[in-house]
Amino acid sequence: MSKLIDAFGRQISYVRLAVTDRCNLRCQYCMPAHGIDIVDRKELLTYKEMYRIIRVLTELGVNKVRLTGGEPFVRKDFMSFLKMLSFNDLLDDINITTNGALIANHISDLEQLQKVKNINLSIDSLQAEKFNQITRRKVFDEVYKTLERLEKSTLNLKLNMVIQSGINTDEITDFVALTQDKNMAVRFIEEMPFNGKGQREMTEIWNYKRILAEIKTKFKVTPIVSEKSSTSRNFSIDKHQGTVGIIPAFTRTICGDCNRIRITSTGMFKNCLFDDGVFNLRDFLRNGASNDDLKNVFLSLVKEKPKNGFVAEANRKKGDVSESMSTIGG
Ligand code: SAM
Ligand code: SF4
Repeated sequence: MSKLIDAFGRQISYVRLAVTDRCNLRCQYCMPAHGIDIVDRKELLTYKEMYRIIRVLTELGVNKVRLTGGEPFVRKDFMSFLKMLSFNDLLDDINITTNGALIANHISDLEQLQKVKNINLSIDSLQAEKFNQITRRKVFDEVYKTLERLEKSTLNLKLNMVIQSGINTDEITDFVALTQDKNMAVRFIEEMPFNGKGQREMTEIWNYKRILAEIKTKFKVTPIVSEKSSTSRNFSIDKHQGTVGIIPAFTRTICGDCNRIRITSTGMFKNCLFDDGVFNLRDFLRNGASNDDLKNVFLSLVKEKPKNGFVAEANRKKGDVSESMSTIGG
């Protein structure tokens, strides 16, 4: 079987797929208050197209998919799509990133889907008012209920907290404290300029080093050896059930072992979060491409995967990064 191996010998085994560009929230760091210009429904990949793309990728050695968006649970029949995707016998893991505002009633159904193992829940504050300000919607209670239900479920839970200078840095250690009696991984993400506007004014730089220093003001952490391709640097804390991690999304010190590709909700193939999209799979499929054509395209596209996010950014044709994460698929 041909495998997806890039010019630096990295084997691609993980695809992130945005199932929609729509979202029920308006997080300040992700999009402007009025939202983003969503595309016409027919420009989105259909579930059948997504299934086919994933199937072909799994025939080339991909064994994990992360479904994201926009908010995946906003798309109609998303649960049915999960069931459909579970029929792919070459797929080991279906992971989901969600804001959690719409999923409390789906948790027991998600537990029934054997390939759905990991849920990443985005929550940037434990204070209801601040959370509602960040997301520009009043959904804290619902999201926190989801957090508690997921933590008690059979699914592995990871929390994603985007560190926003001047907004929620005072809560980093509160999030660490949550891991004392909750079996979950809390991950702190460096803020990136993918917010529909570009780099915002920051009062202070909160990078990996600074976040780690803040955690260490209250906790003694021990590094955990993680998978080489892990996006986070992870730590355990004595007597805590859960763990913490930091995702150097902006300082990009993790690119060397990247095993990922991305597909946006409109079918744009991306080798890197920081590139501006390198091939339109949707048009290729709708113009009659066969599965073999798709395979050949994937094999040649990954050869162009840039060494790291800095090279990807420098090669962009559309200027500075500013598109919303909900368009790209975070
Ligand atoms: N709506 C879902 C959610 O919020 O979990 C899935 C899509 S969201 C774009 C995926 C992840 O990207 C979330 O954890 C979110 O916090 C993160 N994200 C969005 N904009 C970001 C930014 N500018 N910098 C860093 N992370 C960002
Ligand atoms: Fe929506 Fe997720 Fe972006 Fe927040 S981070 S606006 S929940 S897509």
